[in-house]
Amino acid sequence: MLKVDGIDVFYGDLQVLWNVSLEVRENEILVLVGANGAGKSTTIKTISSLLRPDKGRITFNGHRLDQEPAHKIIGHGIVHVPEGRRLFTQMSVEENLIMGSLHGEAKPKRLETMAYVYELFPRLKERRKQLGGTLSGGEQQMLAIGRGLMSLPKLMMFDEPSLGLSPILVQNIFGIIKKISQEGVAVLLVEQNVMQTLKMCDRAYVMENGRIVMEGPGPELLENAQVKEAFLGI
Ligand code: ATP
Repeated sequence: MLKVDGIDVFYGDLQVLWNVSLEVRENEILVLVGANGAGKSTTIKTISSLLRPDKGRITFNGHRLDQEPAHKIIGHGIVHVPEGRRLFTQMSVEENLIMGSLHGEAKPKRLETMAYVYELFPRLKERRKQLGGTLSGGEQQMLAIGRGLMSLPKLMMFDEPSLGLSPILVQNIFGIIKKISQEGVAVLLVEQNVMQTLKMCDRAYVMENGRIVMEGPGPELLENAQVKEAFLGI
């Protein structure tokens, strides 16, 4: 479905990705794990066309993405739920959700999709008139995911959705991500929460210093001695 093929990415003169290749297949949960600064966010920002690779190519269902402007990416069915959530703080929950559904097919179906989002997150329904900026961290994460769903994506990319949340909320959010994938949306999840994400995913890639250093099924990587030592402290 998504193919990233040998991309190099720079911030100015500073190279941060080297020959990164990965693929996301239909209906799978793919996880990208790695320490701080390994290049995970840079990889998904490049897929979203927020950054341009100097080398390599990115395709989605056969369409070349790496030459497209960022605002066109959503039209291909890819949505990026960014780290820090980036909500419209002065808009209500409902208005934030509507902002996610301004493109193509999503617009006429927005009420139906909103009902689905409220079913997934009853808390958002209760707070639908409340301003985005006044929600708790967990509720903001729910809203960021809900807004992403409003675009009827084929692929959802999540950047550290567990950041700053309590363990119980993390479980809740990961449960929702699993449910979204079961509904037929492919998931690319960037996480530092290595143990939990390797357990829930189909496959994973491990990044180190801007390079992919390992890949495999999640449960297999959980048993890998290098992964255990580097990320799990065992
Ligand atoms: P984290 O989990 O801490 O966000 P990450 O794996 O997502 O880490 P990136 O955010 O992709 O890592 O960062 C990769 C490298 O690029 C880091 O060395 C970082 O300092 C650098 N970097 C990120 N954003 C910029 C920027 N706007 N300008 C210059 N360097 C940057």
